[in-house]
Amino acid sequence: MQKVKVLGTKYEIFDEATNDEFPLLQNMDGFHDVTNKKIVIAGFVNELGADQDLKFVKNQVTRHEIIHAFMSESGMEEWSQNEQLVNWFAIQSPKIFKVFQELDIL
Ligand SMILES: [Zn+2]
Repeated sequence: MQKVKVLGTKYEIFDEATNDEFPLLQNMDGFHDVTNKKIVIAGFVNELGADQDLKFVKNQVTRHEIIHAFMSESGMEEWSQNEQLVNWFAIQSPKIFKVFQELDIL
């Protein structure tokens, strides 16, 4: 388990979670719990395609849940429910940060 701060609020990240520990994982690969300040990532992926890399998918799921947490801690609950937006940022953010680094504007 890792700990991170999301806008000053401590979150625990469980990144090798099982169905037994967190039954919600039966229907999803990860979730964030704003009430208990937990981010839970399955140690497996429910529907891993043959061409997908487990670590790549888990990293993307983890970014997705962290973005939910940032939105929740920003009071943006309504935006946080927009899975398309959250997913877009989870997928594109590494590319955005790479451009920021290239331009030395971080
Ligand atoms: Zn989501």
